[in-house]
Amino acid sequence: MGYKAVNPATGEELQSVACIGSRELESALEESFQAYLQWRETGYECRAGLVGAVGEILRQNSKKYADIITREMGKPIAAARGEIDKCARLCDFYAEHGAGYLSDEEIKVDSGRSFVTYNPLGPVLAVMPWNFPFWQVLRFAVPALMAGNTCLLKHAANVPGCAAEVEKVLLQAGLPRGVFSNLFINKEQALEILGDGRVRGATLTGSVSAGRAIAERAGSMLKKTVLELGGSDPYLVLEDADLELAARTCAASRLMNNGQTCIAAKRIIVVQKVYDDFMDLFLQEMARANMADPMHDDCTLGPMAREDLRRELHGQVERSMGQGARLELGGYIPEGPGFWYPGTVLSGVKPGMPAFEEELFGPAAAVISANDEKEAIELANRTRFGLGSAVFTRDIERGTRIASSEIEAGSCFVNSMVQSDPRLPFGGIKDSGYGRELSVQGIREFTNIKTVFVR
Ligand code: NDP
Repeated sequence: MGYKAVNPATGEELQSVACIGSRELESALEESFQAYLQWRETGYECRAGLVGAVGEILRQNSKKYADIITREMGKPIAAARGEIDKCARLCDFYAEHGAGYLSDEEIKVDSGRSFVTYNPLGPVLAVMPWNFPFWQVLRFAVPALMAGNTCLLKHAANVPGCAAEVEKVLLQAGLPRGVFSNLFINKEQALEILGDGRVRGATLTGSVSAGRAIAERAGSMLKKTVLELGGSDPYLVLEDADLELAARTCAASRLMNNGQTCIAAKRIIVVQKVYDDFMDLFLQEMARANMADPMHDDCTLGPMAREDLRRELHGQVERSMGQGARLELGGYIPEGPGFWYPGTVLSGVKPGMPAFEEELFGPAAAVISANDEKEAIELANRTRFGLGSAVFTRDIERGTRIASSEIEAGSCFVNSMVQSDPRLPFGGIKDSGYGRELSVQGIREFTNIKTVFVR
């Protein structure tokens, strides 16, 4: 099976691309490995210059790239431009800080001199999803390249245009051929090349099952992996919360990227005392979503990226209702072409229901009632996921305590939605994966943290 882009707003096929054969794949691997031998010898200054140039090209052509993103996966065009801008800021960030994050660290020992130095590993395979088709790729690639690795991209089968365009940006910026290569390969080929001695590690952003497949294969070859998988982020609304802020933020987080974000507010856990007031405000916010042509600036809720994803989401909504959840808003498949799904709210969601146990990867929110803070925290942690989380309270000390020591997740935000930021580490625990991207921790993931001792 090859790559096929379908405009999710209309269902119209845009393009299809066949997967490369084994001979082409072999030459791409060799090119990446040979490029690595040269690339690792370039200094940080050279790499920073090239990464900075990537950021410039992204800024100059923001509209063009945003159009491709929206056509292929349906996010509102304003958000697609935002994604490109964020990628450019990521480039600026690592161009400025990459060298510092990887500079040698002297460590005092009894005699002689010792220090830690960060060496690159080699070609790293990146298996990437369609939901942020530029950002997810560059979030991995920019720090990995700064560290002296080369990158092999296997992008999602529904975004071939984005995959090709990202590679073009990096070549246009002046990166030597083979330093970043887009490979039109299928899942089986991706797993196969993980067995090749030239490939030194892999990262995957996507579903738990895809993460397991990569981890199993990489594990059997003893290769380093970083996995950023799904989430079912709990957003706690406590009795002393600013309810308007909480409702606005939960709705914005749930609807962002047409609901297809790993760090969206998926389980909104509200303390009983404020449940009804919160629900009124939240329903108003969710109903405000403007389902419109995603190429227009006034669209705030575009279609889902693929028909099978919509079918899956609708099934989860219906099965939850079958187990007693109440439908407060949305919850139907609109007539007509494209993969549209309205802003949807389920209330009375309880453990055991799909809306509680599974990831809802679309614009459907699960609202859960808790007696008090203690029960809200218990419900928040009663999940196999552990990516992001948030807590709303006017008591900052209380919020900070809950965020720092009570919630089991890779991040917890107080009075704010979870968002990634190049300056902060990003990643999860439990079934949400392991390892960190971004910040100083992210750039060191694909390095050999080498100890040097000199007598
Ligand atoms: P997948 O996890 O199937 O796809 C993500 C990437 O992994 C794609 O490049 C895909 O390739 C590849 N892949 C899938 N299975 C394997 C495998 N066994 N071995 C190697 N590579 C593999 O996500 P979907 O697009 O199907 O979405 C399904 C669910 O995954 C969503 O509903 C959501 O729950 C979660 N998801 C989470 C994301 C996140 O940001 N954390 C992003 C996207 C999805 P191909 O496209 O060729 O199948």
